[in-house]
Amino acid sequence: MGTPSWNRVEVDRAALRHNFRQVRHLVGPAVDILAVVKADAYGHGLIPASQAFAEAGATSFGVAEVEEGVQLRQAGITGQIVVMLGVDRQGAEEAVAHDLTPVVYTLEAMEALAACAAKAGCRKGVQIKVDVGMGRLGLLPRELESFLAALRRFPNLFLAGIASHFPKADAEGDATTEEQYRVFQELLAGIQSAGDGRIIHIANSATLMRYPQMRCDLVRPGISLYGCYPADWLQKASSLDLRPVMRFATTVLQVKEVPAGQGVSYGHRYVTERPAKLAVLPVGYDDGYLRRMTGKAEVLLAGQRAPIRGMICMNACMAEVTDIPGVKAGDTAVLLGCQGAGEIRAEEIARWSETINYEILCLFGSCNRQVYYDSEEPATPPVC
Ligand SMILES: *Cc1c(COP(=O)(O)O)cnc(C)c1O
Repeated sequence: MGTPSWNRVEVDRAALRHNFRQVRHLVGPAVDILAVVKADAYGHGLIPASQAFAEAGATSFGVAEVEEGVQLRQAGITGQIVVMLGVDRQGAEEAVAHDLTPVVYTLEAMEALAACAAKAGCRKGVQIKVDVGMGRLGLLPRELESFLAALRRFPNLFLAGIASHFPKADAEGDATTEEQYRVFQELLAGIQSAGDGRIIHIANSATLMRYPQMRCDLVRPGISLYGCYPADWLQKASSLDLRPVMRFATTVLQVKEVPAGQGVSYGHRYVTERPAKLAVLPVGYDDGYLRRMTGKAEVLLAGQRAPIRGMICMNACMAEVTDIPGVKAGDTAVLLGCQGAGEIRAEEIARWSETINYEILCLFGSCNRQVYYDSEEPATPPVC
């Protein structure tokens, strides 16, 4: 390994554990929790994040693709690993070999899994994915019965679960979720005899916060485990006390004083109105610090907010520190997270770049080196 990048995404493992325990406290001991660790654990690092959740008691994990599940097994993660996008023929083989639980929604995948399970001499549990209104992956309600009948014809497969997903669980004052849950319940009532030990699940973070009655056997939190709320209004409405996990920091390369009337960065989109002090940072859109945040973004230096001036470049941007005394090359600048009394949250960055907090975490995490630490663990309430 050469010299590490000046940019780093710092991940607080103690905050990951804290957030998992918060969700556990909220849902109680009777509901299982599947920690959603797809997308490199929302940018926090698939394996370190999964290990932190396991330490906090997680025994179920949700990944998008087989390959992520294999990585988890190779890192020694035990328990249930649900492959939420399902498998193709090749994936079926790996799912059987590595004891991953795929969702299924096509006959082809079912046949492939049955063949692999037969070859391996085992019975494979699958979870059926139904679409009760998301308009994404899954069987339509009217297709479920014949699909179940097909499943019963494969002695090497058994029904381990039935899952669905909501499109608008985070929408304030919207009745769609209740309606779709009714469809889901009716569907389940129609197939009571379909197998013992199967688990039913439909709740993402927003659902488990808002609709206790929809937590079923298992909840599937993602964003909340990473210390963010699925929507701003839910932060106020929720009793979950989440701690942000990710901090994105860099190092000041140069501090310079420029006169009034100095154009800054490509296109001279910004021109100083007064003599100004600029801190050059080695962060740009290649590091996930999107060019479209030009004119809006702020960073923390010495715990204070400094506006980014001029166009954000590929690997550089300029923060104005005229009013922040003492900033020098080598200082730490914080793009996301806390420094002193200052804090910049993912939600704010999401507004600057017209997206959602989820995408900011994924982006910063996938563009930068992740480093891990454990902050001091606050007292967490007991499970009730
Ligand atoms: C990503 C995902 C989740 C987690 O959603 P959050 O809003 O991050 O809690 C749950 N279920 C499915 C099927 C998902 O794809």
